[in-house]
Amino acid sequence: MSATAQIGVTGLAVMGRNLARNFARRGYTVAVHNRSYAKTASLVADHGTEGTFVASESMADFVASLAVPRKVVIMVKAGGPTDAVIAELVPLLAAGDIVIDAGNAHFPDTIRREAELAAHGLHFVGTGVSGGEEGALNGPSIMPGGSPESYAVLGPILESIAAQVDGVPCCTYVGANGAGHFVKMVHNGIEYADMQLIAEAYDLLRLGLGATAAQISEIFAQWNTGDLESFLIEISADVLAHTDPVTGAAFVDVVLDQAEQKGTGRWTVQNALDLGVPITGIAEATFARALSGSVPQRAAAVGVLPAHAAAWDIAPEDRAAFIEDVRLALYASKVVAYSQGFDQIAAASAEFGWDVDRGAMARIWRGGCIIRARFLNRITEAYERDAHLPLLLADAYFTGVMDDGVGAWRRIVAAAALHGVPTPGFSSSLSYYDGVRAERLPAALIQAQRDFFGAHTYRRVDRAGTFHTEWTGDRSETAL
Ligand code: NAP
Repeated sequence: MSATAQIGVTGLAVMGRNLARNFARRGYTVAVHNRSYAKTASLVADHGTEGTFVASESMADFVASLAVPRKVVIMVKAGGPTDAVIAELVPLLAAGDIVIDAGNAHFPDTIRREAELAAHGLHFVGTGVSGGEEGALNGPSIMPGGSPESYAVLGPILESIAAQVDGVPCCTYVGANGAGHFVKMVHNGIEYADMQLIAEAYDLLRLGLGATAAQISEIFAQWNTGDLESFLIEISADVLAHTDPVTGAAFVDVVLDQAEQKGTGRWTVQNALDLGVPITGIAEATFARALSGSVPQRAAAVGVLPAHAAAWDIAPEDRAAFIEDVRLALYASKVVAYSQGFDQIAAASAEFGWDVDRGAMARIWRGGCIIRARFLNRITEAYERDAHLPLLLADAYFTGVMDDGVGAWRRIVAAAALHGVPTPGFSSSLSYYDGVRAERLPAALIQAQRDFFGAHTYRRVDRAGTFHTEWTGDRSETAL
């Protein structure tokens, strides 16, 4: 076997197969391998004409077919299978080779694997890949971590297969060890928030206006021509326009209302709790999915819990204004979710020493991935104005968005509460917004309570230092 392949892919289920085809279509000689040979054989049989594939049945032959330094993309089920493949690969590789895990690994696993492979002189590149099977084939958003040396070799190849927006690839070096998978995790968390917010907008239009799915599809299609232009709004319009071929009803009306998850939203929220970063938009979106799946609780509540909610009665002449209010509330809530996600990236970057360029992350999410959207340009521009922006919301463009939208946002959240429509995304984002902009928060009382029952101490607004009051004694104050 001659060592000619410029890149190899092991794991040829839907993602790996399409990624391998993407490499081949760009002119790379691609070594391909799968644990069971059938997938390798079918890839070559079905798509062998798209480029140059070197198929191997054994891992040893696969490795032998790769040019040095070898670049091996692992695209298998995340978790144990990734470790199993790494264990099989490592003895076959040599110092300087690059192992790329392009699956959805949890970033602490990536940090561990990077350290383990570095001990063998190998580069380990944990890489976020977004865009599903279509993106993998035609150009995903790619978020590689690992060492800068490995990116120097690998980066140009990955950039060439990534989505391109305005001639700029949706792939850039993210940061050391687990940074790429971390950023992909937050991307998925933001995706949860975005989807939840769109769903809430749909629900408000459905209940508030009594609009049909087809009518809401038209409203979304209209929104997709402005600031909200995004893949998720586009596909939502598409889904809402679809008729169920079995019943003839709107498709969305025949889908069971229990949202599932694969776990990246949960990881994002767990990490935010560890870092102490308030990502309420993502957290509420994750919990909203959990609530939708809380079948016994919902069954116990429906028709039992009193609502005392007002009936909707929007006059025909007010409908357009209501739709515009929902649009503005959606955009404002979406900006909050992104601002929070970027705070989380900044916090992790500081914690793990990654030095992630947040503007560049927004840039590589503009194409290929699920949250691709027009307004990501605005985020990149904000971080170009100030790379150390402490709060995305406080950038001049976004304060303008809030200026335009906050009144509408309050009307919508208030209306939702009055009419009994659950809007955890819209409401919690507005609460966060009012919290973060408050000159003084009731946290002062919480600190006093903590000092009262646990002698946890407090700081004062008028003097430096830490203090405790003798609550059960003479209430004298001690400076500590
Ligand atoms: P998958 O269903 O997650 O995994 C199937 C692949 O893993 C098969 O090639 C299978 O080999 C291999 N595999 C499983 N256990 C193995 C083991 N112990 N040793 C060696 N190989 C093993 O495939 P996928 O949907 O294509 O996803 C691949 C990765 O991409 C995952 O990490 C996934 O989370 C991530 N991802 C998926 C999407 C998506 O839209 N699907 C998007 C982004 C990222 P056999 O054929 O021999 O069983």
